[in-house]
Amino acid sequence: MVKIECLACDKTLKLPQSIDTDNYDGQLVCSSCKALLHVKLVKGKLRKYKIVERRRLGERVVNITVIDQKTKDLMSKVKDRTKKLVEGEG
Ligand SMILES: [Zn+2]
Repeated sequence: MVKIECLACDKTLKLPQSIDTDNYDGQLVCSSCKALLHVKLVKGKLRKYKIVERRRLGERVVNITVIDQKTKDLMSKVKDRTKKLVEGEG
């Protein structure tokens, strides 16, 4: 069981069971302070860990929208195109 302490409030994060601790690269929300954290787990070890967004109590908590794969693909395509356009100018 991987234990990760929140960078914002030092409480131990509860990892959802759906997370594969052998191979996970994504965001987690601290259940205590709602800070958004990015973690990368490889073979049960923490490889990358940073705070994405710190939220203070009393602040409006914005729901994190889960983007479906189709939208994700579309977004990356647009990104690629923009990148090519920018590179083309240079
Ligand atoms: Zn926290």
